Amino acid sequence: MTTNLSKQLSPEEVDVLSRYTNLCVSIDSADRKTLARIRRKADVRIITYNLMLIRAAALQRQQQPPNFLFGTVLNDVSIFELCSLVSFAAACGVNVIQFGDLHEWTDLPKDIAVGHVTNLKGEAFRRAYKELLDAIELSKKLGVEARIQPNLLELYSAAATNIGSNEPVAESESAEASESTAVVSSQLDDQTFEFPEFGAAKLRRQGLQVPEGKTRLCYDPWTFLHINSQGSVRPCCFYTEVLGDIRHTNTTLDELINGDMIREIRRGLFTGELGTECQTCKFKKIVDVDAFQAELAEYLGRKERTHVDSLTSAGIDAVRTWPRKADSLFVAAHTDGGQALSSGGGFGSPERAFDGQSDTFWVSPERGPDNAWLGFAFPAQQWIGRLVLTQTNNAGFRQDLVEVQYRDGDDEEWASAVIARIPIDENKSFIDLREPVRARQWRVLARADNAVDETHAWTPLSLEFFSPVGQSRNGS
Ligand code: SF4
Repeated sequence: MTTNLSKQLSPEEVDVLSRYTNLCVSIDSADRKTLARIRRKADVRIITYNLMLIRAAALQRQQQPPNFLFGTVLNDVSIFELCSLVSFAAACGVNVIQFGDLHEWTDLPKDIAVGHVTNLKGEAFRRAYKELLDAIELSKKLGVEARIQPNLLELYSAAATNIGSNEPVAESESAEASESTAVVSSQLDDQTFEFPEFGAAKLRRQGLQVPEGKTRLCYDPWTFLHINSQGSVRPCCFYTEVLGDIRHTNTTLDELINGDMIREIRRGLFTGELGTECQTCKFKKIVDVDAFQAELAEYLGRKERTHVDSLTSAGIDAVRTWPRKADSLFVAAHTDGGQALSSGGGFGSPERAFDGQSDTFWVSPERGPDNAWLGFAFPAQQWIGRLVLTQTNNAGFRQDLVEVQYRDGDDEEWASAVIARIPIDENKSFIDLREPVRARQWRVLARADNAVDETHAWTPLSLEFFSPVGQSRNGS
């Protein structure tokens, strides 16, 4: 979800936002005055306070706070403050900072407070560009991942050819740039940039033309909708044509998601026969059609698989594996005096999943769902709040849906603690229980249909148990 966090959040809103996995915050400067100038009504003090409230609400529930991403639009004012924004992001515990180009909507009033970076004149542009490169370097050092919009650096390097003149580094909008693909280079401080001889003005308005056999790496029309406060729906943030209006008409989101227009956009991206807007989009990389088709199929296949799982009776309540609670809230459970358990009466050496070796594993004798299980009997009742299951990524030898169960004695029924859905490409899975449970015997039961072929067998590499801090001793 993307938000500017610029209104004072209510406790209910804080609670809801604290349950998101990822939150993108739109912010272009850590300076109060600059930010207020760019985004009217935005106050960096309120943003920071909201951000901390959201983190605190998650921690109070003993859950991992959302991953925060700063979405930063570069412009001719705030670009000079990027290094302070990066350090501010690091201080706020932000994981990612994303630098995007200013999109110049033609239907907006001309009195917006900032302009495109390439409006800057020679020496000012040099300083701006250097600030961006310095900010990228700083983010690496501070452990904040910097994501840079495709074509952004190409645009700046193209503009850099005009450094030295007393004109804006981009050519005038009316100048027609060459369509030639000849490569030239320009020097900025100690860096040399190469770029097609294409012209900064044109790059500023649109991305590079997509050649035959290529397309844009864009999943937006499959995974994303942009809905503005007026009810207009677009397939991405940049499409000028709208899919429809859900506020002033009876059109439903379902109709728009499956409508002719968005399907045609998807078809264009999938085949490389792009419509004008995707053809000239400056926000998505150009890739081979074949590679895109393969990546999209895999991406959607993962989603589809998740969807199918969620429709099975076992999957209805399944939670996605994820370290929802902070690592510092757990300690490894004491296993001294305990014993490995498994289906098949101990066949396949279940103790290998608890020996701390990464190259040994238990081999299940069963095939198919609801049969195989791996567990551990503690010498006394043990509070457990988290399990960590490590598996191979070979599909026939892993499980993608498991249920954690517990009981105290051999003659008792197993009770369910949680059902967890494991992404197909995940090796190490964190299964956090909704609440810690105290019991003597614990097991993880296969609930998926992997390992159904007679040559397959579930082979977990390790199963680890973690107790909440303060409840790490047996029975305490
Ligand atoms: S305009 Fe760009 S972001 Fe939007 S759907 Fe097309 S390629 Fe994707």
